[in-house]
Amino acid sequence: MISIAKPLIGDEEKRAVLEVLDSGMLAQGPRVKAFEEAFAALCGVQHAIATSSGTTALHVALLAYGIGPGDEVITSPFTFIASANSVLFTGARPVFVDIDPATFNLDPALIEAAITPRTKAILPVHLFGLMADMDAIQAIADKYGLAVIEDACQSHGAALHGKRAGAWGTGTFSLYPTKNMTSAEGGMITTNDARIAENCQVIRQHGMRRRYYHDELGFNFRMTDVHAAIGLAQLHKLEQFNAARIANARYLNANLRGVGVPITPEGYTHVFHQYTIRVPDGRRDALAEHLEANGIGTGVYYPVAIHQQTYYTRQLGYNQRLPEAERATQEALSLPVHPALTQAALETIVASVNGFMERA
Ligand SMILES: *Cc1c(COP(=O)(O)O)cnc(C)c1O
Repeated sequence: MISIAKPLIGDEEKRAVLEVLDSGMLAQGPRVKAFEEAFAALCGVQHAIATSSGTTALHVALLAYGIGPGDEVITSPFTFIASANSVLFTGARPVFVDIDPATFNLDPALIEAAITPRTKAILPVHLFGLMADMDAIQAIADKYGLAVIEDACQSHGAALHGKRAGAWGTGTFSLYPTKNMTSAEGGMITTNDARIAENCQVIRQHGMRRRYYHDELGFNFRMTDVHAAIGLAQLHKLEQFNAARIANARYLNANLRGVGVPITPEGYTHVFHQYTIRVPDGRRDALAEHLEANGIGTGVYYPVAIHQQTYYTRQLGYNQRLPEAERATQEALSLPVHPALTQAALETIVASVNGFMERA
């Protein structure tokens, strides 16, 4: 079986975890601090704040900007549910803007029409490892005085004009096992804003600025040193992992026939968290079944756009049409691209896809 994702854990991670266990310091401590510093350096930012997951990173970052009830946050409908749910957790309302079909990312040309007096932030998602159009999004945010919180949970190491994901606005990352790098579970917030960084640290730890003095509401969203030790070992391998993903994607792009392959626009570094094709003419699910039968794992990210998820329609009353996001839920299919793929596996994937598309 050629799996859709495969975390690569080596001796470095194992040794690092054992060192933490032997040290007796298990919760948030020196490893978390070292991981934060290394992650900030990776992104080219001043501050990084580790959290327990990508979801809590998003939640904390939104709260750090004071976003809450009565506010609106503009985001993508074609993403993992956490991008929008984190907005709900604060009491604010996610406002969905359709995607650019060429990139699967927020279409900046549609953002201004969605801005209201309640809009406080834009939350672009860098889906599948490709950054959203941050030049255009930042220009709109500047014009209207909005915060920019990047959902970079799929884009560790991605860049636009050489400037990394997480260095444009305030960045949020997931360190879940299937992501480009992992800490088992974990998250990271990146920012150049010292005030936001401090707010994040306080919200992560029970709203505590001074030990056992609580002037505001916070959470326990800390990372442990055990997780940070894994993350730090993975961070040193990220560039190598991403280079392998990019090489695998290049091979697939050059050899697949009859399907829409992912593009990398000029100026972007795409790190291929997913390699997502478009399958035309309603044949996506049949191709996925054919590949499964040939021992190739695939993924449908995502089968339902967020504005059409039952909780959003039934409980929250969302009722809008976003045609490109809805079309993407029918056509998108992710193929294996992870760094552990062999040349033989890549050739099997190409032969199976091309064989099916030629016959169809
Ligand atoms: C994985 C992911 C998240 C959530 O991260 P967790 O670590 O699973 O909480 C949020 N947004 C996107 C786009 C993701 O892919």
